[in-house]
Amino acid sequence: MDLRDSPKEARFRARLCAWLKENLPTDPEPTVLAERWPYMREFQQRLYRSGWVALSYPKEVGGQGLGPMEEAILSEELGKANAPSLLPLGHLGRPLLSYGTDEQRRRYLPPLLASDEIWCQGFSEPQAGSDLASLRTRAVREGDEWVLNGHKIWTSYAAFADFCLLLARTDPDAVRHRGISAFIVPLSTPGVTVRPIVLANGDEEFAEIFLDDVRIPEANMLGRPADGWRIAMDVVNYERGAVETGYLPKFERYLSELAAVVKTQTSTPDRAILRALGEAAAALEVLRMHCLRTLSDRVSGAPPGPESSIDKLLMTAVEQKLMALSLSLLTDTTAPGRAEWFDRYLYGRAGSIYGGSAQIQRNILAERLLGLPRSPG
Ligand SMILES: Cc1cc2nc3c(=O)[nH]c(=O)nc-3n(C[C@H](O)[C@H](O)[C@H](O)COP(=O)(O)OP(=O)(O)OC[C@H]3O[C@@H](n4cnc5c(N)ncnc54)[C@H](O)[C@@H]3O)c2cc1C
Repeated sequence: MDLRDSPKEARFRARLCAWLKENLPTDPEPTVLAERWPYMREFQQRLYRSGWVALSYPKEVGGQGLGPMEEAILSEELGKANAPSLLPLGHLGRPLLSYGTDEQRRRYLPPLLASDEIWCQGFSEPQAGSDLASLRTRAVREGDEWVLNGHKIWTSYAAFADFCLLLARTDPDAVRHRGISAFIVPLSTPGVTVRPIVLANGDEEFAEIFLDDVRIPEANMLGRPADGWRIAMDVVNYERGAVETGYLPKFERYLSELAAVVKTQTSTPDRAILRALGEAAAALEVLRMHCLRTLSDRVSGAPPGPESSIDKLLMTAVEQKLMALSLSLLTDTTAPGRAEWFDRYLYGRAGSIYGGSAQIQRNILAERLLGLPRSPG
């Protein structure tokens, strides 16, 4: 793969950089989620209005009809400019694009891409996380409606969301993953209760969703009955990928900030700290190379598949190495930015759980990429 921009990509990058120079917020990103959410949303809406979001979505649903290279340039330049984070649920547009009817795409995609309507992902349940196929939320057909009953948990940003892409069991007699369907559930429907969960840092980032005789129209099924598993796997493959998420420039910035702390804190740095810095830098380089390989797959038209578990594992490894280093460096309670680093450290712990735990990613790689036998049971 040629890593240099083509003339067209170089023009795109230059236009974007000029836009960012004029339009980046001057006030800092709030640390408390209740304030950060409207700040991120406002910036993302501004980006969208200027044509910088949904680059690889078709024009007829509000996208720009461009490709993965432009998506990668966008996330790289946003990261380099230290722009506000993007709302983290954009990948939920993908299943609407692939499985939605024309009517569903027209109705839901433009406001989703414009961040005028917010979506969340209702997959996990109290007894169904890693073993998602055992989910128990039920959807029963009554006339031209579906009636939903059940309980979702760890639903990110549900308290801010208008719609939930929700998995429910429609055929209890089918083999576990074959009896699941996907639904578009407006969270304002009677019978839906969203109860926020408070994180260690005080943010209410995710929530439980209770569904008590929630009636939604028949037309709110996404795909056909029993497509739920396929849809869920497509969603997580997008969610686990690194290319569009802008992790690389963010991690590069963290690394250079930590290296600067080492330089200012001690005249002769501890060898163990230098080694940890070196290991984090090497892991970051491996991630960068892997991202380029993934990008090259996207450019050649291959959709994300089980190999996105590699991206997820590498990203988590880099983040957790950097955060462990930050904790050992920022022992000085008066160090500037310490609270922010502690927040990042705590969130870094979640990296090996959300989007499927690290152990589950390794199982996927073993079984689906390496062809190793499945463990019994
Ligand atoms: C920050 C965050 C955001 C999240 N956002 C969402 C969201 O928006 N929507 C949503 O639906 N869910 C969300 N989740 C939930 C997430 O998908 C689950 O937490 C995750 O899949 C693990 O499920 P669990 O918590 O039930 O743990 P469990 O499945 O109970 O796993 C517990 C431990 O056992 C291990 N384990 C389980 N099975 C195996 C196995 N077969 N082999 C080896 N080890 C195994 C796991 O790796 C883990 O270490 C979020 C989670 C976090 C932390």
